[in-house]
Amino acid sequence: MSAAGRHPGRAYGPGFQTAGAAVEFEVSGFGLRVVTADAPDGTPRWSEITVRKGGFNDAQVMLEWQGRAGSYALVVSDAAAVAALRAQLAQSAPEKARLRGTGHLGADARTRRWSHLMVWATLLPIVLPIVLLVLLLAEHDRIAAWAVSHVPVAQERKLGEAVFAQAKARLRLVDGPPQAMVREIGARLTRGSPYAYEFHVAEDATVNAFAMPGGFIVVHTGLLALAGSAEEVAGVLAHEVQHVERRHSLKAMVKSAGLMVTVSLLFGDLGGLVSVGQDLIGLKFSRDHESEADAEGLKMLVAAGIRPQGMRDFFRRMSEQEKLDLGWLSSHPASETRFAAMDAALKAMPAAAVDAPALPYDYAAIKAALPAATKPAPPPREHTK
Ligand SMILES: [Zn+2]
Repeated sequence: MSAAGRHPGRAYGPGFQTAGAAVEFEVSGFGLRVVTADAPDGTPRWSEITVRKGGFNDAQVMLEWQGRAGSYALVVSDAAAVAALRAQLAQSAPEKARLRGTGHLGADARTRRWSHLMVWATLLPIVLPIVLLVLLLAEHDRIAAWAVSHVPVAQERKLGEAVFAQAKARLRLVDGPPQAMVREIGARLTRGSPYAYEFHVAEDATVNAFAMPGGFIVVHTGLLALAGSAEEVAGVLAHEVQHVERRHSLKAMVKSAGLMVTVSLLFGDLGGLVSVGQDLIGLKFSRDHESEADAEGLKMLVAAGIRPQGMRDFFRRMSEQEKLDLGWLSSHPASETRFAAMDAALKAMPAAAVDAPALPYDYAAIKAALPAATKPAPPPREHTK
């Protein structure tokens, strides 16, 4: 409880703590008396006092005066104290009671700006990391894309080497005519590329092919067994090569690795990505990346003088296989859309592009050279997963 006529406030200035000191004050017709200060500086007259409103919603009143030892300020926040102060001012110093519209307005606004600035200066170190984190989360894709686009080819190659070294431990890579054909077609497609490609064949009955960053491409024997021509294999290779050329593989890895890897990538560290590479087959490309690889892959085939129809034909084969495997699905809209897009792109191509000579491979002989264990998987009788 404060004594009658005494009000709580916070005083700043010589003799008070830097952070301000809780004090009691009295107001009278003469002026102000800071009860708890014994210096004569604590008893200024109204004529010596500047009155300002302050705080975020002007709920505070600031009294400032010049004492002998320096500048003093008393901040009054307590609502009853503010009311008492206003009442006293109205009586003793009416020109100071009208805090607005008396020429103090400019000073009020300045004070307000200052107090806002001070609050921000205090909060910035706390708020900034949160703002950056929120920005990073909201803009993760864009920031990741930016970071990915700044990775040098040589560094991407090193990442690819590390990922491929891990993958190799689980893959059964095979040599022989199928591997030679894949390597030759791959070299023909990628002539002039900044990437040094490596094309491999892995013994695995599943119909699959995948591209690692830096130019490591692996085709399963199951895919070669399903394909009907060297041109169809070339179509798959062109699609996979585009995933490398356009850094889809790197982007997919960054996306699946998450925020921390993006942050380390911003600092030029690709180390975090190597572990993600272990799950390459689980990597998902976006639909945009798939259609981009389709469209650019077709162009790449034409540029290499290879009949581009092979890509479409293999894709039709895949869709038919999918329909058999996924009998419960009446259609597969994503596949159908991609097939239609490829077909339309082929129809728009000049006759010379689609009439390229056949590749010089006896594909039946290539298939015969596949490891005996590789057989196209029979369509399952019922869907199990
Ligand atoms: Zn793809």
